Amino acid sequence: MTTLRLILGDQLSPSLSSLSDCDKAADKLLICEVWDEATYVKHHKKKIAFVFSAMRHFADSLKAQGFALSYTKLDDGENAGSFKGEVARMIAAHAITKLVVTSPGEYRLLADMQSWQDELGIEVEIRPDDRFLCSPEDFASWADGRKKLRMEYFYRDMRRRYRVLLEGDEPVGGKWNYDAENRKPPKQGLDVPAPYCVAPDAITSEVMELVESRFSNHFGDIEPFHFGVTRQHALDALNQFIALRLPQFGDYQDAMIEGEPWMYHAHIGFYLNCGLLLPLECIEAAEQAYRDNHAPLNAVEGFIRQILGWREYIRGIYWLKMPDYAEENFFNADRDLPDFYWTGETKMNCLRQCVSETKENAYAHHIQRLMVLGNFALISGIAPAQVNDWFLSVYADAYEWVELPNVSGMVLFADGGYLASKPYAAGGSYINKMSNYCENCSYKAAQKNGPDACPFNYLYWDFLARNRNQLKSNHRMGMMYRTYDKMDEAKKQAIEDDSQLFLEAL
Ligand SMILES: Cc1cc2nc3c(=O)[nH]c(=O)nc-3n(C[C@H](O)[C@H](O)[C@H](O)COP(=O)(O)OP(=O)(O)OC[C@H]3O[C@@H](n4cnc5c(N)ncnc54)[C@H](O)[C@@H]3O)c2cc1C
Ligand code: SF4
Repeated sequence: MTTLRLILGDQLSPSLSSLSDCDKAADKLLICEVWDEATYVKHHKKKIAFVFSAMRHFADSLKAQGFALSYTKLDDGENAGSFKGEVARMIAAHAITKLVVTSPGEYRLLADMQSWQDELGIEVEIRPDDRFLCSPEDFASWADGRKKLRMEYFYRDMRRRYRVLLEGDEPVGGKWNYDAENRKPPKQGLDVPAPYCVAPDAITSEVMELVESRFSNHFGDIEPFHFGVTRQHALDALNQFIALRLPQFGDYQDAMIEGEPWMYHAHIGFYLNCGLLLPLECIEAAEQAYRDNHAPLNAVEGFIRQILGWREYIRGIYWLKMPDYAEENFFNADRDLPDFYWTGETKMNCLRQCVSETKENAYAHHIQRLMVLGNFALISGIAPAQVNDWFLSVYADAYEWVELPNVSGMVLFADGGYLASKPYAAGGSYINKMSNYCENCSYKAAQKNGPDACPFNYLYWDFLARNRNQLKSNHRMGMMYRTYDKMDEAKKQAIEDDSQLFLEAL
């Protein structure tokens, strides 16, 4: 009677539910690098190196605590290439009778695991992932009976439930949300602190070589590699953010500056999503910084809202709506993803910067993802499946539970408005206001039509005109349609012609 406990690459937390009652003397643990998971989309090289290195370090820390852990490296001769195959090998080698695993973050894998009991002939116990702050069941009961879900109401409930930034039962400062104060454009001379960096150790260096040789045709630069790969690194990265960047996180949350990919963001998504950090400790650290007068309320509330609100809300929607959510395509968008999402070769400087930073860092901050890379895909009508594949591949923090609702729901409005109340579509003036990208662009942000005009300008109106049937009843779009309707016919024709010319050339 031996129990096997399988730990996945995004489950690198000592508090994992599958480990809670582990008998070190009797149970076996398994962590494995498998080809299927590394290649079901062609993940960024840096993402694979990060996850494999973090897995190897986590495995070493468990072994040091006396757990009987088997670790399969990608290149091990017997590696079966899939989780099921690796579990089957353990069953054969160690007379395993029961498998315990924490529920995976992706529907695809959960569906697979649910068949293992029959297929492998042992008891399989799939435990809830209690590292999140709202379970899928709790989210489903919150959503029950609501026609449209809105993050803001969910977030307020979560603030009350976890008693975060409250005075009695009221929000600290009198308001739940300080987003209106968090939209400052970048200003000259900002001194953005350097991001947290760790030099690769022997384990990371070995993994980097492995990735270069086995995944050479994947997108992305492996060097320079400076992500942390242990729990202590992740805590240090969080502390560095709280000390150096949180005070200005709010003010410049939406700002973009050429050559400053990291801005005042936290850069902790990749640590949170693989389990090296837990959400509540990040929230508590930020709240403490406010209570200590180290960071202002707009910054702290804004940061906490991302984790306690958006992150949990997004995950709730994923589990509520899968598997159908992956098929949503409200606008019937069917254009292919342009090559420049991989090469960065485009005259549009904003896209060139965001793609090349993504290639180098496996990171782009939220507004780059939403208002540049996502906005362009939305207004040019790129097929959601292709946009999702790209976002899932290229970011070190990308896992389907968080990537899919952000892309299909928030960016592409492919769910018809279940997650967001209106599409986040915008013309060049938004990017011009919130960044300095337009200063070095071949196009002119202020020009609306013609060969030199910023493509975002005409594509924005063309998107509204093309999708009028789907959007006309959305009251938040009414003002934009009234503006469009006031344009003379020649202007409308120029929008259509410029858009057609541009899109055909993509
Ligand atoms: C098109 C698109 C795709 C995205 N894909 C992913 C993804 O694959 N993985 C991912 O973790 N986030 C994704 N996000 C959300 C967000 O952009 C990233 O979480 C954030 O950029 C990570 O960087 P950071 O740690 O510096 O975040 P910060 O800006 O410093 O925010 C702090 C934390 O808040 C959480 N958070 C903030 N916004 C969101 C959000 N919208 N959804 C979920 N969590 C959020 C993250 O855990 C993040 O680490 C996506 C957003 C968009 C618009
Ligand atoms: S002008 Fe348009 S395409 Fe060029 S950087 Fe500005 S928003 Fe992007």
